[in-house]
Amino acid sequence: MRIIGLTGGIASGKTTVTRILERLGAAVVDADQLAREAVMPGTAGHRAIVETFGAGILLPDGAIDRKALGRLIFADPAARRKLEAITHPAIASLAEQRLATLRECGEKVAFYVAPLLIEAGVAGRVDEIWVVYVDRETQLARLIARDGITRAEAEQRLAAQMPMEEKAARGTVVIDNRGEPGELERQVVMLWERHCGSGHEKTGNHRVG
Ligand code: ATP
Repeated sequence: MRIIGLTGGIASGKTTVTRILERLGAAVVDADQLAREAVMPGTAGHRAIVETFGAGILLPDGAIDRKALGRLIFADPAARRKLEAITHPAIASLAEQRLATLRECGEKVAFYVAPLLIEAGVAGRVDEIWVVYVDRETQLARLIARDGITRAEAEQRLAAQMPMEEKAARGTVVIDNRGEPGELERQVVMLWERHCGSGHEKTGNHRVG
């Protein structure tokens, strides 16, 4: 089974591309979903986070307050490293399990969607990297519109990330999402047919987290 890593910057269009791929029948493993699963109450990830950051990081129902954790690590690189040392191996292990299941089910191609594919050092474990690309101004405009934040806040989020150009340079395939949604759809359909089409039946979605 060929594993295609799908990545890109914040608000570049990864989710939109994933939806199109799923509609085409692609098998998708979503790292964001796995990140939520990895810290659910009862998991080793949950226990390790409480041990490291204290019970103050919990919501009243016992779940990890992901927003509070996000704010904490945004301001503290050492805390970020500690959190990543807990979550990255947990996510990697869940991803291995899900991909193994898809392989056993006879899938020929699976997409691993991960915003930090390159930064987290996972790039070497996929066969190809598809990068969803937008220019900085489009990225800022879409981020501001989607999240209802100020330009300064949007710029701050971009500054915390690997520049889009650098990511695009690492891509086996670059999906250009500067244009209209229809243009994005045409590119994804073309890529799907060219790279994944043959022998792949359109049997509906195979999203496994
Ligand atoms: P994040 O990493 O922040 O979750 P993402 O990479 O998954 O973001 P999307 O959520 O797919 O990005 O897209 C960001 C925003 O831009 C969304 O509001 C989406 O509807 C919009 N968008 C995506 N592609 C286009 C396009 N071609 N034209 C206009 N708007 C678009």
